[in-house]
Amino acid sequence: MLGLTPARAIDIHASRQATRVSITRPTISAMRTRLLQTFLIAGLLGLAVQAQSPASSVTWLDPHREPASRLLGEAMSSPFAWERLAELGDTFGHRLSGSQALEDAIDWAVEQMQKDGLENVRKEPVKVPHWVRGQESLEIVAPRRHTLVMLGLGNSVGTPPDGIEAELLVVRSFDELQAAGASVKGKMVLFNVPFTTYGETVRYRGAGPSRAAALGAVAALVRSVGPPGLRTPHTGALNYDPAAPQIPAAAVTTEDADRLQRMVDRGTTLRLRLEMEAQMLPDADSYNVVGEIRGRELPDEVVVLGGHFDSWDVGTGSTDDGGGCIVTWEALRLMKKLSLRPRRTVRVVLWTNEENGLRGGTAYRDRYRDQLANHVLMLESDSGVFRPTGFGFSGSDAGRAKIRDIATLLRGIQADRIGPSGGGADIGPAVEAGKLAAMSLEVDGNYFLIHHTPADTIDKIDPMDMARASGAIAVMAYVVAEMPDRLR
Ligand SMILES: [Zn+2]
Repeated sequence: MLGLTPARAIDIHASRQATRVSITRPTISAMRTRLLQTFLIAGLLGLAVQAQSPASSVTWLDPHREPASRLLGEAMSSPFAWERLAELGDTFGHRLSGSQALEDAIDWAVEQMQKDGLENVRKEPVKVPHWVRGQESLEIVAPRRHTLVMLGLGNSVGTPPDGIEAELLVVRSFDELQAAGASVKGKMVLFNVPFTTYGETVRYRGAGPSRAAALGAVAALVRSVGPPGLRTPHTGALNYDPAAPQIPAAAVTTEDADRLQRMVDRGTTLRLRLEMEAQMLPDADSYNVVGEIRGRELPDEVVVLGGHFDSWDVGTGSTDDGGGCIVTWEALRLMKKLSLRPRRTVRVVLWTNEENGLRGGTAYRDRYRDQLANHVLMLESDSGVFRPTGFGFSGSDAGRAKIRDIATLLRGIQADRIGPSGGGADIGPAVEAGKLAAMSLEVDGNYFLIHHTPADTIDKIDPMDMARASGAIAVMAYVVAEMPDRLR
């Protein structure tokens, strides 16, 4: 039937039960009881599947099978990770750099890590940019008035108090912009470039405003960098080129971008009015949060896990990247709960300011520069916490072979695929400086549909997927930290 393996069928069943909980909207306590029952069943079945999965022929893993099985069993036995993420988002909301919400959430994380029994829990200071959005709006003013859905781009300057009104020029590429030449002067330019991959399309958000300004544009709009949603705008950072004037810039929805394109293609001359109060304030104080389980034999050798704790100022940053923070933190909580203290230190870092500055990741590199040679591996989860499929890995061939072996312990939850490359924005600076092995959690989900939008909220995340992701990261980190030979 559908060619599903028993394990896959069990997972889907458990997932559907978990999903149904939120659809039928029972009372909170009934909801929690059903969620717990789901986890109890899934935990037991998961353990059974694990026990029955054909043991891989990798004999060096034998001493690690039992702890790995316990870590997975513990992760799958409760919705703890999802509930912690829900509490984070519900309590503090979004967490933009410079906001009180981010700093309050950081203090909460420290307190929770201490309660979990993690060691050396600390805040490491980082100066972060402090951009504030303020009020903002975009409308077509001629030939008829229509309000458009928009979000100013992070780090954008604002408009004068009475806004900027200009004729709209729509382009589909940088080539079309260049070809428009002198006609760009005085216009508001819309880059209407449909989403392909993030790397390909985000160039228009990052560099588009300055490219348009260099030709005399007075404001820039970008089609949201994501697939069509439900008229959902996506924010994200722009990078001003010091050589061009700074003009205000905002994202519009894919639906509105297509509409504007159609109208211009029909020969309609459109005038738009953009109002943005956005401004950059002086740098603010923030922190990376660090917690550890110190290694029992080689405490100076470190396996680092983490995600970024800041988010855009819309939604609650649950997928980007609250979930990544919680599932990596979970790896340590699970080890602590099971009294598993590996040979090497496992460290979780919740980096600050990934979104509009990457100051947390660069501060980490600078603070630990002397110790990077002792960093065995860095792993980041920042692609959402959907059903985990495995990990991306960048490193030596020998390292990849070991990681592949370890991944066989995750066959029972179908998270055993090792992709061709791994990494993350926050671990990037340290990985590059220390030439370190890098990994990322890989998941099967529509991350870019909700990333940087008001729709980035906890309800898009399945508790069972978070449990699987936590278990998978815990097993990977534990074995790398525990195995006799260092990962090379
Ligand atoms: Zn992110």
